Parts: sequence; structure tokens; C-alpha cells
Amino acid sequence: MRKDRLAQFRKRLIEKHRQLADEVGRTALYVKDQEDDSIKDLGDQANTAYTREFFFELGNGDRRILRDVVSALQKIDDGSFGNCERCGEAIGDKRLEALPFARHCIDCQRVIEQEERMAAG
Ligand SMILES: [Zn+2]
Repeated sequence: MRKDRLAQFRKRLIEKHRQLADEVGRTALYVKDQEDDSIKDLGDQANTAYTREFFFELGNGDRRILRDVVSALQKIDDGSFGNCERCGEAIGDKRLEALPFARHCIDCQRVIEQEERMAAG
């Protein structure tokens, strides 16, 4: 991939990263407030378990994307950006434009989603 194109993707990914980090940060703050008001009587262990679960529920989608964004930035650095992690083929231009942090080509993505649905029952 050409350098100027890579630089564009990097810029978009960094922007996305900042936005997501903000959102995840707010979620963490929100959980902290809840903790102080409503469950301060619970033991430390229960407290921690509750927080973890709550945080997971709230931030799961964003944190998953955040992880993919970070991994895409790493791939720009090591030169593998734009290649599918599963089959190694180039991810389509349109798909990358829409989802610069996509980890898989559209064909593999379909297979993976099918597998996830089956695993979920
Ligand atoms: Zn693939």
C-alpha cells in the first residue's frame, strides 16, 4: 500500500482511538460513581466482581473496537496493514475505507460471524 494512503488510514485510526478512549473512560467513571452510592456496603470481593461485570456490559462493543483500532495501528507500523488476519489476502478497498480497523476480508468475516453464531447457540 502507498505511503500517503497508509498515512491517511493512520490519521483516521488515531482519531477513532481518541474518540473510543474518551467513551471507555466515561464508562469507567460512571461505574465508579455507581459504586460509591449504591454498593459500598458489599465486601471488597463482591464489589470487584460487580464492577467488572458492569463494565463489561457497558463497554464491550467499544472496547472490542478499541482493541481492533490499536491492532490496526500496530499493523501499519509492521507493514501488514490491509491484509486479512485469517487468509492473508488483501482486504477490499471499500471495506477498508468503511472500516479501517477491519481485521478480516469480507469472506472470512462472514465465516467468523457464522462460527460465532453457532458457538453462541
Ligand atoms: Zn480473509
